[in-house]
Amino acid sequence: MKNYQVVLLKGDGIGPEIVREAVKVLDKTAQKFRFGVTYTDALLGGAAIDQTGVPLPKETVELCNQADAVLLGAVGGPKWETLPGNLRPEAGLLGIRSAMGLFANLRPAKIFAPLRASSPLRGDIIGEDLDILVVRELTGGIYFGERGRREVNGQPAAYDTEQYTVPEIERIARVGFDSARKRGKKLCSVDKANVLEASRLWRETVIRISAEYPDVELSHMYVDNCAMQLVRNPKQFDVIVTNNIFGDILSDEASMISGSIGMLASASLGSGKNGLFEPIHGSAPDIAGQGIANPLATILSVSMLLRYSLEEPQAADAIEAAVAKVLDEGYRTPDIFTEGGKKVDTAQMGDLVAACI
Ligand code: ATP
Ligand code: MG
Repeated sequence: MKNYQVVLLKGDGIGPEIVREAVKVLDKTAQKFRFGVTYTDALLGGAAIDQTGVPLPKETVELCNQADAVLLGAVGGPKWETLPGNLRPEAGLLGIRSAMGLFANLRPAKIFAPLRASSPLRGDIIGEDLDILVVRELTGGIYFGERGRREVNGQPAAYDTEQYTVPEIERIARVGFDSARKRGKKLCSVDKANVLEASRLWRETVIRISAEYPDVELSHMYVDNCAMQLVRNPKQFDVIVTNNIFGDILSDEASMISGSIGMLASASLGSGKNGLFEPIHGSAPDIAGQGIANPLATILSVSMLLRYSLEEPQAADAIEAAVAKVLDEGYRTPDIFTEGGKKVDTAQMGDLVAACI
């Protein structure tokens, strides 16, 4: 029997409550699909600051790098907001991403059919359900290029530089193609190749890599058009792959068309199998400790963990199906509650999903 090592970074606020439910579901899935999971807790964010004085202890980096996968709750909260930037909980999050060499950020924008009403988009635009994956390059491009202030024609000015190396584009393109291969086999590469040189290199490189993926249908779109199409006709997309800044913007746009922050998972991947999986929402300090947080984003992050790091696709599918079933049956945490639903708390939602596996 395979046994996987999973590090839990429960973090702050609602982090521990939602990770508890995700572990419940992962345990049930492991039992059903006959593999083992060994958990190790490690400190990150505010919890780490309180116990060790720093947001990312060395031990956490070592444990995460040795693991098969890392599951994170959320970090941060008002208690640590007055600390200097590099000692804040969020610095721990950026630190662990870079220490694990995670260069690809995957954000599904998924609308389960029973939650269609929570989308700001009309039902006929969404269709039965909607399932888009945005793959964002995370460690290159204009956010990391040369920047500064200088004088131009005697006037004060500022500049930022967009730069990508061919290997940087190749590796993110492969994440895009591999993801598409595991889903609807359609990849849309988003750039601004009509204007930007880095985008022209991006497009050339993606086209060259596509030769390795004859089973994936590749298309290209300019970013401005993509921003429009996400709202006009989101059903046309399966996987979108794009650079750091475009991905930052488009992944937020895509996730909000689903309308429910408590439902959305994410994955950050590097060159190995090991990845970091977390809900896209924050630590929600306003509801922490009340037992009302929605654990589904974290539970769906476990599904991504199974798909991308542990390569247990059937187990991943089983979790998604269980979530869909529980929603179909009308169970809702307060954040997604609507008239006629059955209101449940965090732990009940975890129990219900686990029972459906
Ligand atoms: P970040 O840490 O990314 O800056 P934030 O502080 O902007 O996040 P969140 O912590 O995500 O925002 O919370 C935003 C709002 O959404 C809050 O009112 C919070 O209670 C709610 N919320 C976030 N996650 C959940 C969840 N899992 N279940 C229910 N409500 C949630
Ligand atoms: Mg927050």
